[in-house]
Amino acid sequence: MIEESLHAIQQRMADAMASVGRVDTALLVAVTKNHPVATVEEIARLGCTHVGENRVQEAKEKQALYKGPDLVWHLIGHLQVNKVRQAVPMFDLIHSVDSIKLLDEIEKVATKHDKVQDVLLQVNIAREASKSGMSVEEFPHIREYAKTLPHVRIRGLMCMAPFFDDPEEARPIFRVAKALFEDMKSYFPDGEIEYLSMGMTHDFEVALQEGANIVRIGTAIFGERVYT
Ligand SMILES: *Cc1c(COP(=O)(O)O)cnc(C)c1O
Repeated sequence: MIEESLHAIQQRMADAMASVGRVDTALLVAVTKNHPVATVEEIARLGCTHVGENRVQEAKEKQALYKGPDLVWHLIGHLQVNKVRQAVPMFDLIHSVDSIKLLDEIEKVATKHDKVQDVLLQVNIAREASKSGMSVEEFPHIREYAKTLPHVRIRGLMCMAPFFDDPEEARPIFRVAKALFEDMKSYFPDGEIEYLSMGMTHDFEVALQEGANIVRIGTAIFGERVYT
């Protein structure tokens, strides 16, 4: 089941990129939140080694139980300042950094671990009150501030579009994100701004057509999540 769904998604990703003439690659982050560690092990066995979790505690439990090839762990959900101490040693890439307070705390904890923490800045382009992410207006200031922190390395940008019945409606939002991402590159050393994380089950094809190079997909690979 998971194997077939994974292959179908990989094919749809390739088709979406080909439809706009893209010849680069995009990374699939398999979102395993609310699925047991056996699911993580299965996806790893199928060669998908990037996994996304949205809660620090849940990821911590899975990491402790997980047996399999080395994985790259992505924190994709909102990060509370009081969870940074746990999150920094656990995650390779934190997608959801949206405030100076959070940057300061990551800098502090990463310094203690002698780590340079890779992060993405999350921008709330559609201004949805229900979602985290900084506003487009705050973005330049936070971006400049982040550059001063030696233990935080900004690798790009993350955005979530609102849920639209027709994913085409997300296209203008992804387009703004892509423009911000390209603009960002001129403020950082060559090669550091590499990732544009956008697109989920419902809208990843549109996101890829607009330039995403990380998509975060759960439901289309693992089925509906069951919350108990
Ligand atoms: C849950 C989640 C996803 C995956 O959503 P699906 O619709 O299941 O593909 C992607 N990104 C974030 C931030 C999430 O919380």
